[in-house]
Amino acid sequence: MRLAAVVETSRRMTETPKRLEKIGMVAALLRELHGDEIEIVTAFLSGRVRQGRIGVGYRTILEAANGAAREAAAEAAQEPSIEVLNLDRAFESIAQIEGSGAERRRIDQLHQLFTAATAAEQQFITGLLLGELRQGALEGIMLEALAKASGVALARVRHAAMVSGDLVRIARALLERGEAGLDDYDIRLFQPVQPMLAQTAEDVVEALADVGDDMGEVALEYKLDGARVQVHKSGDEVMVFSRALNDVTGAVPEIVEAARALPARDAILDGEVLSLKPDGRPQPFQVTARRFGRKLDLLRMRAELPLTPFWFDALYLDGANLLHEPQSRRFAALTAIAPQSVIPHVTTADSSEGHRFLEEALARGHEGIMAKARDSEYSTGARGRSWLKIKHVKTLDLVILAAEWGSGRRKGRLSNLHLGARDTEKGGFAMLGKTFKGLTDEMLAWQTAELLKIEIARDSYTVYVEPKIVVEIAFNDLQVSSRYVSGLALRFARVKRYRTDKTPEQSDTFQTVKQIAEAQ
Ligand code: AMP
Repeated sequence: MRLAAVVETSRRMTETPKRLEKIGMVAALLRELHGDEIEIVTAFLSGRVRQGRIGVGYRTILEAANGAAREAAAEAAQEPSIEVLNLDRAFESIAQIEGSGAERRRIDQLHQLFTAATAAEQQFITGLLLGELRQGALEGIMLEALAKASGVALARVRHAAMVSGDLVRIARALLERGEAGLDDYDIRLFQPVQPMLAQTAEDVVEALADVGDDMGEVALEYKLDGARVQVHKSGDEVMVFSRALNDVTGAVPEIVEAARALPARDAILDGEVLSLKPDGRPQPFQVTARRFGRKLDLLRMRAELPLTPFWFDALYLDGANLLHEPQSRRFAALTAIAPQSVIPHVTTADSSEGHRFLEEALARGHEGIMAKARDSEYSTGARGRSWLKIKHVKTLDLVILAAEWGSGRRKGRLSNLHLGARDTEKGGFAMLGKTFKGLTDEMLAWQTAELLKIEIARDSYTVYVEPKIVVEIAFNDLQVSSRYVSGLALRFARVKRYRTDKTPEQSDTFQTVKQIAEAQ
């Protein structure tokens, strides 16, 4: 392609304020390009040269241009003749110049270039070399033009550009190979990608129905309550990223060592790390989380709370991008390199086998299980329905000790309930938390009337009541907490129903609650 065509497009772009028109022009130009030209012109239209900096500043240009301008009229070419490939080669050769007299030689070469250029081309080259053509908006237009010229979704193009940080090579991959060309670019070693996330399924049956493949099979895995990590390794070089993509390499030396020992040169793995008790059961989440706190004595922490990795996905392995491979293939690749430390898993189409697996995970102190679609790709950053978490919702029958006045829509109603469990050893009730979740308008009306009947005291926010009414509370976990004297707090508590059929003597005891907490 002639440079003149690029210069002309660039000129027309500055003339129209209409974004869509600009995109159309660039897309049309891109479609005409082949091979190296794609990279060169993409760089030019983004206001850069492929070589980055070529050691030419304002003074060099001035001298070269003045040299050319001395016989200006005679020397600026009348007809355009420069090919973009030749211009790129000239930049390459100028970039190589070094040693004594380098500046003189740069000026000479640039002077030659200028004499071959038309006035418009001279201006364009000067703008390019001085970075004057660069403007923020160009990048966005280039991305859209690339999507348009290649017929690939803009989001995919943008993601690849973001991950690779190299628009010029993305352009070539896209225009030469279409969407498949991006596979090499949407993941890169040491550049963390947003982890794939999960939605919730009520139970195993729903999960099988939702994500079962042609054979009805799903991949089930333990759901561990630890810390999500994404590990990048190339030989001995390892980096570990948190779920928020923070670099946590320094906090987890044993994970770094485990990654180094993997029999793969390059890898990006996704997993959960956990501190296990000596009996092999997991520490509660907050205990594992201490390893990621600030200012800690790492050696002591490592000795007290050693971390164990449980890998559940491989995104990249020895040069191959696995993001678009089905889960079944990614998991097989993972198992091949880390058979000892993959997450406990089964593949099944059978709901009773699924239930057994869930019970097993819970019995071993884990949070529940995950059900994954075996034919699904790894969707970075997406909370799709290809991964479903199945947690065992636990319930307790607790006693209402007090209620706080609601606000907003709930003003004038007793809302937030204080919940206690009967303490058969010390007597009285152990407070475990508060909740107003799950309460409908009818329930609010009912409890306001009933609680006021058994009021024993009040302050400005709260009405304290005789411990008479039992409620069934669903919750996900029990957390060690210093907020309450009991030392335990419910996590994600919500009201399921009033148990008017039960007396407080029939409600669950604090001793039962402690057993549940210990089993966790
Ligand atoms: P949630 O935070 O409840 O949405 O659940 C998703 C989190 O569960 C992930 O970010 C991981 O940290 C964690 N997790 C535990 N086990 C697995 C597993 N087998 N597969 C995927 N995520 C898991």
